[in-house]
Amino acid sequence: MPTEPLTEEQQEIRGLIRELARERIAPRAAEIDKSAEFPWDVVEVFREHGIFGVLHDEEYGGLGASALMTLVAIEEISKVCATSGLIIAVQELGSLGIKLAGTDEQKQRFLPKLASGEWLGAYALTEPGSGSDSAAMRSEARLDGDEYVVNGSKRFITNAGVAGLYTVFAKTEPSEGHSGISAFVVEASAPGLEVGRIEPKMGIKGSTTGEIFFNDLRISAANLLGEEGEGFKIAMRILDRSRPGIGAQGLGLAQGATDYALEYAKNRETMGKPIAQHQLISASLADMETKCEAARLLLYKCGQMIDDGADGSELTKISAMAKLYCTDVAMEVTTEAVQILGGYGYMQEYPVERMMRDAKITQIYEGTNQIQRLVIAREMLRENRAFLLAGVG
Ligand SMILES: Cc1cc2nc3c(=O)[nH]c(=O)nc-3n(C[C@H](O)[C@H](O)[C@H](O)COP(=O)(O)OP(=O)(O)OC[C@H]3O[C@@H](n4cnc5c(N)ncnc54)[C@H](O)[C@@H]3O)c2cc1C
Repeated sequence: MPTEPLTEEQQEIRGLIRELARERIAPRAAEIDKSAEFPWDVVEVFREHGIFGVLHDEEYGGLGASALMTLVAIEEISKVCATSGLIIAVQELGSLGIKLAGTDEQKQRFLPKLASGEWLGAYALTEPGSGSDSAAMRSEARLDGDEYVVNGSKRFITNAGVAGLYTVFAKTEPSEGHSGISAFVVEASAPGLEVGRIEPKMGIKGSTTGEIFFNDLRISAANLLGEEGEGFKIAMRILDRSRPGIGAQGLGLAQGATDYALEYAKNRETMGKPIAQHQLISASLADMETKCEAARLLLYKCGQMIDDGADGSELTKISAMAKLYCTDVAMEVTTEAVQILGGYGYMQEYPVERMMRDAKITQIYEGTNQIQRLVIAREMLRENRAFLLAGVG
């Protein structure tokens, strides 16, 4: 991989996003956290500047979809506000089902609205009794003429109540496990879709996380994604491509916290000199920077592989590694940033306090980091490395 993985044009786009993040989003971050209100003004900034277009092909009104640039956008925005970075990550999460499994008609119907940001997307897999174990889901979809009737509920759905379009998973064969699950695109206005409680939470407070109820929700059979029974496969193919986005959110948080702690350490003096000149602090800063850089290399490699068409096991493994490493780094580095600021780091007046709270969720959603480790180990166990052993005397 070249030293600078981005082309000149991509660097220019990164520069624009960075400027937008610094000038329009950073000044809002503390208030978004404090009010815990969904930041529609940030969505408007993204719409005005075509940021959602980075995720989509030109034929649907985008700028030419690039996984790598999507990760760069999420990283740059999350450096200043992880709630705002998540808006881009979930737009991709909510669009991927249509991009990967949609018919031409479904793509024409839905993607332009997602590419412009007129609609926000959402992905509804988790239920009260099924998080890591999605085969245990209980929502059901029954074919009735040329419509599906859906009953059940979802929990912890990001963008609940603000999304225009939900990718919904429900069982068309309730007695089956994974193979009984099907995927659907559901417009927020569909009769029978109701949004329940929006959860108060530790971090990413401006993002909505809520319950969705399906009470005899009727959707056209034309809204089925792929074939009946393919839902679990679709859900996993989506996650292979969306998990790096959570990695990018984690990396943005880690780099933002490192940058803040560095400036603070240059200015805060104890025992006659800036704390950055105390060896234990400078060693911490060096570790934080090194972890961010290592995380970025893994993440960008994953983005490039998606853009080059990687699929299957190869993608599953690197995507899980990128999510795992970037988000573990996010938690370690933001915690260290709080430590470097001392008592001030614990105060809400300083952004590292928010960054540390925001970082925690990146280790939990889109598959907990325990699940990422299971996925990576499963892929390793399938690989044949016996030749290495054979060569060792
Ligand atoms: C803020 C927020 C936003 C979210 N957004 C979305 C969304 O938009 N769409 C959506 O569908 N879901 C969403 N989720 C749900 C999220 O993906 C799940 O919470 C997560 O996958 C874990 O599921 P669970 O909470 O049921 O935990 P459980 O599955 O009950 O797991 C509990 C603990 O056990 C561990 N564990 C479980 N199984 C194993 C195993 N086999 N081996 C080792 N350890 C294991 C887990 O890692 C975890 O530590 C969101 C959650 C939150 C908190």
